[in-house]
Amino acid sequence: MTETLEIVNTKAELVLDGVSKSYGANLAVRSISAEVPAGKVSVIVGPSGCGKSTLLRIISGLDTPTEGSVTFEGSPVTGVPEGLAMVFQDYSRSLFPWMRVAKNVAFPLRHLKPAERAERVQEAIDAVGLAGKEHLYPWEMSGGMQQRVAIARALASHPKLLLMDEPYASVDAQTRADLEDLLLAIQARLGITVLVVTHDIDESVYLADHVIVLSAPPSVVAETIEVDLPRPRDHVTTKTDPRFVEIRGHVTRLLRGAGRPADDGTH
Ligand code: ADP
Ligand code: MG
Repeated sequence: MTETLEIVNTKAELVLDGVSKSYGANLAVRSISAEVPAGKVSVIVGPSGCGKSTLLRIISGLDTPTEGSVTFEGSPVTGVPEGLAMVFQDYSRSLFPWMRVAKNVAFPLRHLKPAERAERVQEAIDAVGLAGKEHLYPWEMSGGMQQRVAIARALASHPKLLLMDEPYASVDAQTRADLEDLLLAIQARLGITVLVVTHDIDESVYLADHVIVLSAPPSVVAETIEVDLPRPRDHVTTKTDPRFVEIRGHVTRLLRGAGRPADDGTH
């Protein structure tokens, strides 16, 4: 890893205030209020279809809420904010198959001078452990490696806020564990603000400083839980820590309860 990819983040902060989103008669999310503190890892966990991708689209300015507002660094989000990068679940659709790794990573940096662009690309590729793979095409790589390319591309823009939409849902369990650790290592080193959405309870607790638990749709925030597990974390020590087991059990109970009609407030 290089020492030059340093990002000083003192104020990035995201606030959701009463965000609701309807698609026609379908109310996807209902009055979501949440805060994403600067320099921390926040995770939104909820069942499939509960509006996680909808929320990320609203946060990234790609969609507008029906009600409520989103503020990033104190300013209302009206378009894609400066300093935001996104990693999607489906790397096979987010990477350009006709571009080699280095070109894919360089793609959002077209506005920079070639020397600076090359330096950023190399830093980001090094940060995700893909040095030496710059010349490969995405289709020559495993799924996990392709997702690393997508992460490198996001990092190359030096984001203050990194959004990740179920980033590891399409890779095998071992790769997933490695990529979770990669994310935590990068986040600790750069101090960026990270917001991950996932349906995976273990993943949410393992990664997070705090977990925002969503109910079944029309979704509300069931609870926000501080995860006071020490860092650095690892898959053996952290996941056998009684506190991890306790928090995971709590999130599981919330999600089970949230799925029951009697608890969703509309029955
Ligand atoms: P998740 O990412 O948690 O699986 P989504 O945000 O994709 O959930 O979807 C939440 C709800 O909103 C679902 O009922 C889905 O069908 C609906 N929805 C999402 N996007 C659209 C859209 N563009 N048009 C209509 N309905 C949508
Ligand atoms: Mg989704």
